[in-house]
Amino acid sequence: MDIPRIFNITESAHRIHNPFTPDKFATLGAALRLEPGARVLDLGSGSGEMLCTWARDHGILGTGIDMSQLFTEQAKRRAEELGVAQQVKFIHGDAAGYVADEKTDVAACIGATWIAGGVAGTVELLMRSLRAGGIILIGEPYWRQLPPTEDIARGCFANSISDFLVLPELIASFGHLGYDLVEMVLADQDGWDRYEAAKWLTMRRWLEANPDDDLVEEVRSKLTSEPERHAAYTREYLGWGVFALMPRLGLKKA
Ligand code: SAH
Repeated sequence: MDIPRIFNITESAHRIHNPFTPDKFATLGAALRLEPGARVLDLGSGSGEMLCTWARDHGILGTGIDMSQLFTEQAKRRAEELGVAQQVKFIHGDAAGYVADEKTDVAACIGATWIAGGVAGTVELLMRSLRAGGIILIGEPYWRQLPPTEDIARGCFANSISDFLVLPELIASFGHLGYDLVEMVLADQDGWDRYEAAKWLTMRRWLEANPDDDLVEEVRSKLTSEPERHAAYTREYLGWGVFALMPRLGLKKA
């Protein structure tokens, strides 16, 4: 079981697989007022940077599940490196339908809401692991500027403009689901560069090291086209943020 190999190639050197930078995760961890010993569940935990740094900085206990074998191995190595291997556990597996045995203080899905069919389904899935009074974290894109054409939306790797909302609409949608938005930290364009531009050097070096690989043509063509696509579309039109939600009192789901 694994994710498509192209991601394991282009993001092999990333610690954070989204437009957040280390300072943004630090800001978020502080904003959530995490107590030592708090449990944090992370579906689609990638290379584990959020859980490992929060374990180091706030003493949390973390469980991450990710379908990439490479990212999961990197997460385990990072936990050793930061001296938090006793506090965090990384499971290589499918997070779709994953419910924790023990209720958690924070239940997160940071940039992988497709695992439960979108934001609404993912919030519902995370709720099944959350203790009463706990916090849900959703990392999700939104339109920084509404694309004037469908072509521009596709340039951002969206299927259509309707895939994402503008920020006030995304915020309103959490209310419609029955949740209070209690905190948020937003990525910025420099963060998008860290996520996207870091792939370019990785691809260039991978091409030099793997001239006979089946994916050479695909990686070659991405390295040629991606910088311009990123500058024209993603960097200008796409926003991204992590949203902290709590169910509105009286509407809590079981
Ligand atoms: N939350 C991480 C990773 C975000 S990228 C971070 O912020 O760095 C999306 C992640 O979802 C990738 O690590 C990918 O391997 C993982 N993923 C994709 N489908 C998945 C699934 N069905 N179950 C678990 N993880 C999945």
